[in-house]
Amino acid sequence: MPRHSDFARFHALLSAKPRILLVCGAGLSASSGLPTFRGAGGLWREYSAVDLATPEAFEQDPGLVWLFYAYRRHMSMKANPNRGHHALAALAQKYDNVFCVSQNVDGLLEKADYPLEKLRKIHGCLYGLKCFNEDCDWRASNSTDDPLWPILAPASADVDSTNPIPLLDPAHPAPKISWDEIPKCPKCGAEEEYGLQRPDIVWFGEPMDDHVVRDVEEWIDGGVDIVLSIGTSEVVNTAASFLYHARSNGAIYVNVNLDAALPHHLGNLDQDDFAFAGDAMELLPKLFEPIIGDV
Ligand SMILES: [Zn+2]
Repeated sequence: MPRHSDFARFHALLSAKPRILLVCGAGLSASSGLPTFRGAGGLWREYSAVDLATPEAFEQDPGLVWLFYAYRRHMSMKANPNRGHHALAALAQKYDNVFCVSQNVDGLLEKADYPLEKLRKIHGCLYGLKCFNEDCDWRASNSTDDPLWPILAPASADVDSTNPIPLLDPAHPAPKISWDEIPKCPKCGAEEEYGLQRPDIVWFGEPMDDHVVRDVEEWIDGGVDIVLSIGTSEVVNTAASFLYHARSNGAIYVNVNLDAALPHHLGNLDQDDFAFAGDAMELLPKLFEPIIGDV
């Protein structure tokens, strides 16, 4: 077995009670059946995520952007955590020296009972709401109503490959939801034109939440022995910067990704680093088996 994919060598590290940072991306949730809408083929209707996941898109057509997020929210509510999520949740429940940064907005780690105090979601969450007025700090963890509001019902129709819903078919016009139909922010919406409720998601071109970034940086500064990159493409700048920060502080790097064995990824490894190529759902239970037992 190549040294970089040696489970026994990884397990030996765990016996020294290392501080472990987990950096999770879309690959963790892929086996739960959630599309990411990033990259080639990731279209929703005729739009790419970049067309819809911006403040400019929301200002132009908040109803369309809300339908896109309502659809993703509905799909996430129906999805179940996979064995990868359960393995990380078990690790964080049984082991103190672990902290997780997730790029995922799907809520599946929470659904697997991952402890919230050891989790920071740098891109927000499909279940949160905030105000579109930048000067307003209103936020809410929304209900589990599905649809969230009656106007978003077209996004909550059940769908499978044999029963596509009209909302997903670009040949059908998308339902038109006007600016006035979007629920207002309860704090400023009566006075402010931009006081609309919007998804609590970090859109393209928007900064991360300062508090979230600071929490992660402080945890890294407390010392990281092992940093795992799990299903991330590492092209998202903030996630890449956390990995870089941990590695430059001396952490051993563990790449858990479908393409981890490709030459350019292996070339990125230092002597003591690891690369496990495959599905996080299969790999994570094996990697942490000495701590979590049989998940
Ligand atoms: Zn507001």
